[in-house]
Amino acid sequence: MKKKIADSFLELVQGDITQQDTDAIVNAANTSLLGGGGVDGAIHRAGGPQILEECRNLGGCKTGDAKITTAGNMKAQFVIHTVGPVYHGGTANEAALLASCYRRSLEIAVENHVKTVAFPSISTGVYGYPVNEAAPIALRTVHSFLLENSLITLVRFVLFDQRTFQAYADALNAIDG
Ligand code: ADP
Repeated sequence: MKKKIADSFLELVQGDITQQDTDAIVNAANTSLLGGGGVDGAIHRAGGPQILEECRNLGGCKTGDAKITTAGNMKAQFVIHTVGPVYHGGTANEAALLASCYRRSLEIAVENHVKTVAFPSISTGVYGYPVNEAAPIALRTVHSFLLENSLITLVRFVLFDQRTFQAYADALNAIDG
């Protein structure tokens, strides 16, 4: 599923983010940046030990912010590590922090001349964010970024399972234009 937004594309696929050939892939990391499970574990396994070596020098990352490393052995050139909010029921600023993850990741992409970016569904695994709430936030944030910035040509959401893919597809259909 692909949607044109100004001069860019927003695409949804079901798949594995470690296999993407975009310039950068985004990692759903934790504040230590020193590795974890889920997509974080998969990225460090696929990329090799070099990514962790670089992460050690970054001094962690705040929730809602993002930092960049190279991508080791993967096809992508960079990994942008962002830290999503843990879901505490929705009243702990989770929506703003989740939107910030997507915005900060794209800002860092632009700073590094990255033109194509793949995102996983941040916070909807171990961090417990309901995917039906997270998907519209993710897509609206990326959509408005692409309307205002022409340097990114493609944002691809790589959704691991059918249920997550369907939630993002429904949310994308609900976005105007
Ligand atoms: P968080 O801690 O931010 O919730 P998780 O890694 O636990 O992050 O989960 C985020 C999402 O990433 C979940 O939908 C999970 O199914 C998905 N995921 C796990 N492995 C991969 C992968 N290799 N590629 C893409 N998505 C993945």
